Amino acid sequence: MLQRANAVPSPVRNRFRQSIGFTLSVAFVALALSPVAIVALAGLHQLDQQAHSQMTSQLTAIADIKIDQIQDWLDDSAAMLNVLLANPSQYADARNTLIGDQQSQLSASFALTQTLNAQLRAQSPFDEFFLYSTDGQIRVSTTARQVGKVVVDEPYYLPSLSSEYIQPPFYEVGAGQLSMVASRPVFNTDGKVIGILAGRLSLGQLSDNMLRNNGLGETGETYLVSLESNYLVTASRFEGYPLRQAYHSEGIDNALKGSSGTGIYPGYRGHSVIGIFRWVPELQAGFLAEMDEAEALATVNQVRNLSTVIAVIAGALAIALGLGTALWLTRPIVALTHTATTIAAGDFSQRAAVTRGNEIGQLAATFNRMTERLVQTIAELNQRIEEIRQAKEAARAKDVFLATMSHELRTPLNAIIGFLGIMGMAGKLDSDSLHMVQRARANAERLLKLINDILEISRIEAGRLELIKEDVNVRDLVEALSSQTEVLAEQKGVHFAVHIDEDVPTTIRADQDAMTKIVTNLLGNAFKFTDKGSVSLQLSRTDTSLQIQVKDTGIGIPLHMQEIIFESFRQVDDSLARAHGGTGLGLSIVRQLCMAMDGSVRVSSAPGQGSTFTVTLPLQKSEVLETVS
Ligand code: ADP
Repeated sequence: MLQRANAVPSPVRNRFRQSIGFTLSVAFVALALSPVAIVALAGLHQLDQQAHSQMTSQLTAIADIKIDQIQDWLDDSAAMLNVLLANPSQYADARNTLIGDQQSQLSASFALTQTLNAQLRAQSPFDEFFLYSTDGQIRVSTTARQVGKVVVDEPYYLPSLSSEYIQPPFYEVGAGQLSMVASRPVFNTDGKVIGILAGRLSLGQLSDNMLRNNGLGETGETYLVSLESNYLVTASRFEGYPLRQAYHSEGIDNALKGSSGTGIYPGYRGHSVIGIFRWVPELQAGFLAEMDEAEALATVNQVRNLSTVIAVIAGALAIALGLGTALWLTRPIVALTHTATTIAAGDFSQRAAVTRGNEIGQLAATFNRMTERLVQTIAELNQRIEEIRQAKEAARAKDVFLATMSHELRTPLNAIIGFLGIMGMAGKLDSDSLHMVQRARANAERLLKLINDILEISRIEAGRLELIKEDVNVRDLVEALSSQTEVLAEQKGVHFAVHIDEDVPTTIRADQDAMTKIVTNLLGNAFKFTDKGSVSLQLSRTDTSLQIQVKDTGIGIPLHMQEIIFESFRQVDDSLARAHGGTGLGLSIVRQLCMAMDGSVRVSSAPGQGSTFTVTLPLQKSEVLETVS
């Protein structure tokens, strides 16, 4: 057998080949598990994606709102400074504070401080208002201790001198934290800048705003990180993360590089976060909205765990169901196979159990019927064999009986014929008595012939015929037979002719006695059934055989009898045959003898047309050669 490459280990392959149960179980389990696995994997993946995109869009929405709020907050602050300076009396106070005489400076600064304090208390995005001269000295501040301080080193100082300005968060050494300052120049009546009104924006407010939880769960937060040293502009939602410290993450760094986007990355706290990052140019800061991935995916994880449990249970059920079905399907087949094997081994008492009404049950039932028939057939065959054996035995017994009986009959019969002959020859009998003695002798001779025929046929049928092959001189044999026959021809007044073809071999290897019996029987019949015309005996040859033909012009034989007459005791017409005498054994003996010599006999005849019997006997090689030479 061809062996394929050992892709599958051979014991497994063998199990597949030999056991339907195994193959079915594997197929069922695979079939049952694959949908569960596909649904579980595809579903979970889908859920994962959905959770991510849902969280991203939620964060994006929040980011949009928060950035709008930042913008509003900045707009509010600018508006408030504008409003402050739009009031003429307040503007006058500012001018007087900066360039008035000593008396008016004092009262103006007092009044301005009052106004600014009032403004600060009324919902303001500022922590402090302050007014400083062009040389940078603070003249008025809502925070009293600031008065007199000089701001020339502060980053906003120079830009604030020339126009409206907003200083993005910067690290203010004095405050020890990030500050943000918005400012408006104050002009004298000639349009020359004489000082600056500034407000320190409340980053605390911004922080509060950022910290305000907008459905961001336990870990979601929005915050701002300044380009200034990567400090936090707004506080972290979590403890232990001070403002003054450099913060980095993929989101923070990208935002501070000026780009916007989303991503999943380790946040500044080291947890993996889903984040939205934006660059906010007005604040020179990065805006971030983030949530821990773990929290964002918590529901997914719950679903995943639940799905896994369900999948495992479904899988186990599927396997149990698959194996159960396979077993259910194969058990009767396996049982049937077992029964078949047992029966094949010769135990015909076995029957398959019929436990189902389905096709498998029908198969088992049919199998049982088949076995039943088989058993019956075997029994019948055995009976036939026994009958044949008995018949053979009976036939043999009959043959033995006949052979013995014939012998026992022949001996006394020969004696009777002998005595009757002597009585006939002695000349002591009157003509009536002589006639009776002669008839008695003729009948005794007929009886002897019958007995001889029976003896012959039973010898042949008992298989005790022994042919003796010898060189038979064909012409001598024919000569002897025809001289006997001529007497018969004369008695009946029928013409008798003999012809032997020249190429007929002089001698042939054959049993002389058998040949004599064949020809005598055929000639005897020919004369028996021919009252006028002729009888002829012809010998000819083919390449391989000798042909002996006995032709007559007698009563003929109807077609339907032409085969039957060769059987023992069969005659065409019982009454006719009785008139002619005869036993119905002659042709049977002829055919048996021909066959014993590997030859054959056939007849062609028609009623009233005469008959031709042809005997064909094979020639031996030497006899064939004889003619060739
Ligand atoms: P039987 O002793 O009766 O002649 P056979 O076996 O020799 O027995 O012949 C069987 C029968 O075949 C005969 O009874 C006869 O009816 C028929 N038969 C045989 N030879 C001839 C023949 N030459 N012409 C007509 N009928 C024949």
